[in-house]
Amino acid sequence: MKSFLLLKSILRNLLFISILFFGFSVISCSNQENNLDQFLSKMETRYEQIAFELGDAYWNFYSAEAEADLKAPKEKFYNLLVNDTLNNLIEEWYPKRSEIKDTILRERVNKWHRVLLSAKVEYDAEIMKLRNELEEKFEVSEKEDKSNYNFENNILKLIELRNKKSVELGFDNYVHLSMETNGLGYEWFLEFVEMVDKSSLEAYKSLVEKTKEESKLYEFGQMDAYQLFSQFYKNYEPTEVKIKDNIELVKTSLNNIGIDYDELPAKLVEMKLPPGIGGQGLMINIPNDFRAVMTLGMDISVWMHEMGHGLHGLYNNINSPILEGYEWVPGNANGSFAEGMAETLAWFTRNIEWQKKYTNLSEEKIIERKNTVKEYVPAYIRFHLYRFMTETMLYLQPDKKFNEIQKELAKKYLLIDTENFRTQVLSNIIYISYPLYTQNYLLADMIASQIHKTLEEKFGKEYAFNKDVGEYLIHNFYSNGEYFNWNQRLIKGTGKPLDIETYFDYYNIK
Ligand SMILES: [Zn+2]
Repeated sequence: MKSFLLLKSILRNLLFISILFFGFSVISCSNQENNLDQFLSKMETRYEQIAFELGDAYWNFYSAEAEADLKAPKEKFYNLLVNDTLNNLIEEWYPKRSEIKDTILRERVNKWHRVLLSAKVEYDAEIMKLRNELEEKFEVSEKEDKSNYNFENNILKLIELRNKKSVELGFDNYVHLSMETNGLGYEWFLEFVEMVDKSSLEAYKSLVEKTKEESKLYEFGQMDAYQLFSQFYKNYEPTEVKIKDNIELVKTSLNNIGIDYDELPAKLVEMKLPPGIGGQGLMINIPNDFRAVMTLGMDISVWMHEMGHGLHGLYNNINSPILEGYEWVPGNANGSFAEGMAETLAWFTRNIEWQKKYTNLSEEKIIERKNTVKEYVPAYIRFHLYRFMTETMLYLQPDKKFNEIQKELAKKYLLIDTENFRTQVLSNIIYISYPLYTQNYLLADMIASQIHKTLEEKFGKEYAFNKDVGEYLIHNFYSNGEYFNWNQRLIKGTGKPLDIETYFDYYNIK
């Protein structure tokens, strides 16, 4: 592994030199800027050290390799992120960041601003206490009976606290703050939702009408909607895969695009995990340590998804911890792009040529399944809308009951016209640990589709077997970390910002 690290550091320096000529400007800076640079570097070294510790603790949490201590590193993060000198310095520099000549330093200030802002909410003493309590209650345990714990009320309390804190910080509510720190922007997000809703509505209506006609239904109910959704999923992921060893197939698929897994500081482990835990990929040290553990029987696309997170981190060459994009503080990495990178790798398993080689499906069958996916994709898209908008509404309309929100949005997005709708309970870990994150999965599908279209245009139909494809992904999407914003990265690699229209065209949605 050592020779690899040496090679990496040489590459890193070479890249850094090439960066100087392409787009970054490091011009001699003022004394003030130098002081800022030095102070932030000190903070970032500490930040990264704590990120390693927390990553390692989460690894133990998922893999059960050792006792997991999540609290101590979180406490350290808390102490670092409430540091007055750091907060004052960023508050002073953020408004005048355009004056900073060194553009990497400028972006570090921007990223610190987002990290500190979101930490003011998530690492607020009261919020952190409640969040830790809820996470602990969610942990699988035989020692403690949790049946009396009121998840629903406590999650609502957490939502209320996040909103309250956001108002104190000058935002209308937590959605506004979160969209500012995650890089999407509140206005952009609303427009995105509206556009996706509008563009998919007619196609979804036709599906609903067809179902009603075929099944002679007067009303379209919840189960009917789930049926449409499951038609999509049954045909989306590859089946009859020839290579049973998932890790072997990940390595082979990487090798096909010119990436040698054995050269990477990555560790994939398949083992039986406690019920309810599917697994997790963790970027413990960017770019030197990626690990993923998964329970038995997961789909190859899930493995590729996690490995996609791995490649994104392992080929990160930016030399500043805050621009490397650790996931432990919301706002540090752009979640949509991170999930997009994961899905970009997963999409190789949905590629026709890949499926021809690694599944027992005939070409005819593969195409038939693709067409079914296209037919039912409006249901998939609108389920995403339904899912993330129910969470968003919890923050936007805090006086409304969760049941009411679900019923209203089921009508709006899933066109369910029965009153008989079984709502979900609020107790879901995602609302606690990954607030307002799920829109990223729909965005990720769009990002992956856009990138795969470019790959096909550049490298031809057989691009899943072209050794230059890996380098293309590394150069355009992984190497600069969080330096460019997510849309700039898409422009760099595909020539366009997020292209929703082409996504709808790809799926033949008119
Ligand atoms: Zn992911």
